[in-house]
Amino acid sequence: MAEKTFNLTRDMLDHTFADLVTPDREKLLTCIQCGTCTASCPTAYAMDYTPRQLWRLIQLGLKEEVLTSNSFWLCTACYLCTLRCLRGIACTETMSTLKRMAVSMGMEKLSSSARFYEAFRDTVRRHGRLHEVELMATFFGRAKRLGAMGYTRLGFTLWRKGKVSLDASAVNIRGLDQIEAIYRKVEELEAKP
Ligand code: SF4
Ligand code: SF4
Repeated sequence: MAEKTFNLTRDMLDHTFADLVTPDREKLLTCIQCGTCTASCPTAYAMDYTPRQLWRLIQLGLKEEVLTSNSFWLCTACYLCTLRCLRGIACTETMSTLKRMAVSMGMEKLSSSARFYEAFRDTVRRHGRLHEVELMATFFGRAKRLGAMGYTRLGFTLWRKGKVSLDASAVNIRGLDQIEAIYRKVEELEAKP
């Protein structure tokens, strides 16, 4: 992405932010900006801020800038950055915490990646596994994105070759009640303070 400059003011900086998002603030402060995490990250190319840049923003306490970025939503939790960081910084865990924080603060509404996660979660809840057509229809509907038409041809080709089904119930697994019980348990745990 293009370089961005900030005119920093006290109001923009939240020095408690690093404490909240990473399990070891002191370690995060030792980041030497070597960029190994970014070079290892398979999705860094699409992020607003690369992992290296994100740690610097967190160090400074630029909370809003971090939470409104798409960077952590694109993290696939592959753990390469964490494994390769020479300072032992818990990069992946920090990415996961940022996702949870953005949701709890309502900031995920800005992110179409969050809508994709939601659509995936709800589709698997309904069927026990993925139904691709339903996933994409739900995602485009919730994200209010007009790009769905661009996938019509691909969807038709996949359907013609028997790779996807239009009948969502056809993918249902047995024991859907157990899947539902798992989801409810997670919701119960997440609701705990
Ligand atoms: S690999 Fe570690 S030290 Fe290097 S930029 Fe990334 S977080 Fe910082
Ligand atoms: S865990 Fe996330 S941030 Fe780290 S390398 Fe993998 S995708 Fe990138």
